[in-house]
Amino acid sequence: MLPRPNSKAVNRKERLDLPGSGPPRRPPADRLAGFGESWAAVSLEWAQAAARRCIQCPAEPCVRACPLGNDIPFALWHLEHGLVDDAALIFRRTSSMPDICGRVCPQTELCEGVCPYAKQGRPPVPIGRLEAYAADWVSREGLSVRATAARPTGRRIAIVGAGPAGITAAELLAGSGHAVTLFDAWPEAGGLLLYGIPRFKLSPEIVRRKTQHLSRLGIRCQFDTKLGNGLSVDGLVDHGFDAILLAIGAGIGRPLDVPGSDLEGVYQATPFLVRTNTDPASLPPGLRARPEVGRRVAVIGGGDTAMDCVRTALRLGSDEATVWYRRTEAEMPGNPRDRKLAIEEGSRFEWLAAPVGLEADENGQVRAMRLVRMQLGEADASGRRRPIPIPGSEHTVEADTVVLALGYLPDADFVARIAGLDTEPDGRIRVDPLTGATSRPGIFAAGDNVLGPALVVDAVAHGLRAAEAIDSFVSAGGTVATR
Ligand SMILES: Cc1cc2nc3c(=O)[nH]c(=O)nc-3n(C[C@H](O)[C@H](O)[C@H](O)COP(=O)(O)OP(=O)(O)OC[C@H]3O[C@@H](n4cnc5c(N)ncnc54)[C@H](O)[C@@H]3O)c2cc1C
Repeated sequence: MLPRPNSKAVNRKERLDLPGSGPPRRPPADRLAGFGESWAAVSLEWAQAAARRCIQCPAEPCVRACPLGNDIPFALWHLEHGLVDDAALIFRRTSSMPDICGRVCPQTELCEGVCPYAKQGRPPVPIGRLEAYAADWVSREGLSVRATAARPTGRRIAIVGAGPAGITAAELLAGSGHAVTLFDAWPEAGGLLLYGIPRFKLSPEIVRRKTQHLSRLGIRCQFDTKLGNGLSVDGLVDHGFDAILLAIGAGIGRPLDVPGSDLEGVYQATPFLVRTNTDPASLPPGLRARPEVGRRVAVIGGGDTAMDCVRTALRLGSDEATVWYRRTEAEMPGNPRDRKLAIEEGSRFEWLAAPVGLEADENGQVRAMRLVRMQLGEADASGRRRPIPIPGSEHTVEADTVVLALGYLPDADFVARIAGLDTEPDGRIRVDPLTGATSRPGIFAAGDNVLGPALVVDAVAHGLRAAEAIDSFVSAGGTVATR
């Protein structure tokens, strides 16, 4: 490893004059021809030149903007000197998933958003692309930066949910010598990384690179096991687990409460994405067939999931894929980078319109949407201006497939069945923010089931925090309180 650069080693003024660009992308037509990643491959020379633009800000705004506190400037210092394995190691010190976060983090809202170049309206240092480049390099070279397992402690920990929060915690706890069992309802580990985020944003190979070594770390994986069906959380206590981590995400699709929302051809976003983007072999039989989308696809919603759905619809061969959103672009949540990619690929956007009903053809298949036009009123609790229907503006548009991307909710029914857990009114589990401890001693929670729909990087940060607290809890002899 190199010493940290001092102010003499970096001429900031000179560096600020260096030209830069965003990470190169494949042309839209190429992207639409399949489900491959949108990024184009980059060379070591490109990565070194891009890293050299980092001016090593003394205040490290990018580190402070990263929920994991990644030591970005030090990693980039190594990368610019061609020390790619060291750069990867620095990212890996604070993040269990640098190859994944490098790809899916909304960097423009986090590290890259506070980069001095971005503040000047210029392309920031492409931190996400460089993080993923370094992590991929290490995997390609077969170099290991994984934790090694410690002496067995004899303490047993159940983790429910194998998404980024659960996986991160499982790795850390197994690395501390605890016997970890990871349960998940899906046939494979990954959570939304595999069963949600489309493969053109994150390929399953990258997720599997992470999940396949779980059993090598001694983690027992029990998949196709939905807790609540037969095995309950209290059943895990009876089975002798000393601590339990709930990392079940917030995966219940918000329903559309209008007539016709149960017609054939109307999908919730997750089943639509999963049936398209996940290998059939990794899916239960009922979800293996790809959706037949027809010519016109309507996606209802305005966040990242809506962008994923509209881009997926175009790859499935629809002639026209439109996002219908009840506010305007200015109020749209989500990552502007993904929206830009969706627009480049030919997605259409209709603002200030909301469905009031869906109509069927003679076979019970959706064929049209009835919509009402909106205008914006005063700001609501979210701080965004409230959409108000315009009387007499109802109209109909044809749609062969309708995808609902209206947001996600936690599984409040599942959580309500666990004795002694305090929850928020919407079903999120209430925890101590520093430890992830719930109101029931020995049960911890991390990720979207605490935060509501959030980001992969937040789930990783939560998983790390909860794992440290669980380690302290079981190492001090703690066990789950019985009820
Ligand atoms: C379509 C989509 C696209 C997204 N794109 C991005 C993105 O680009 N960038 C980004 O940062 N974030 C993105 N997110 C958000 C991100 O994926 C989540 O914030 C993150 O995965 C949450 O991690 P988690 O571990 O808390 O939960 P999850 O990833 O949801 O994993 C929870 C796991 O728990 C399992 N489970 C649930 N109930 C049970 C039960 N009763 N028994 C057993 N197992 C159970 C589930 O099967 C699942 O595998 C996206 C989300 C969606 C839906």
